Amino acid sequence: MKKINFSTIESVVTFDEQKKNNPFNLPEICFAGRSNVGKSSLINSLLNKKKIAKTSNSPGRTQKIFFYTIDKAFIIVDLPGYGFANLSKKKKNSISNLLFDYLTKRIELKNAFLLVDSRHGLKPNDLDFLKMLENYDIEYSFLFTKIDKLTSSKKKQLKVDIENNNFFLKKKIILTSANTKEGIKDLKSEIINLIA
Ligand code: GDP
Repeated sequence: MKKINFSTIESVVTFDEQKKNNPFNLPEICFAGRSNVGKSSLINSLLNKKKIAKTSNSPGRTQKIFFYTIDKAFIIVDLPGYGFANLSKKKKNSISNLLFDYLTKRIELKNAFLLVDSRHGLKPNDLDFLKMLENYDIEYSFLFTKIDKLTSSKKKQLKVDIENNNFFLKKKIILTSANTKEGIKDLKSEIINLIA
């Protein structure tokens, strides 16, 4: 199999542009999670870039879906963060509609990575999102973020908690840190498996 260079980004476009120009050309994997979970940092770390994915501090950005085409091999889809505290009901609905539109129409979607903050675990809006994935038969796995923020005893406890939680049964789980790059190699291998 061709070796994939995760630093080679051919294009970054919005969902609308992708729909118009390249409706279904390459396998996709998407990244989702609550705002502030560390999604942009993890995508940047995976792609070895400083600012390809912009942080949720740029509000206009948060309501869009971005497609990053990587090394002519696959597409990373950066979904808008949900669970934003200060968003109007209208904006929250528009994000839900956008997620629905994406998740129900992408025939090349191979897997959704749900990002979970290692310190906080799954929250009610993560469970809503998981329900949506289950309803639409979308494969998913979990990326725990900011693992560097846990002490070694908290990290051990997290592993025990994961083993005892039904939500994580039979799912691929990777503990990651954008800061120390822990888990990035495993994430790359997992993506390569998923798009094979
Ligand atoms: P997003 O809203 O999900 O895109 O989250 P960001 O990537 O913008 O990250 C939110 C905050 O968490 C920022 O202050 C980041 O610097 C911080 N952060 C993200 N990833 C990590 C990580 O792996 N380790 C640590 N210590 N902080 C992180």
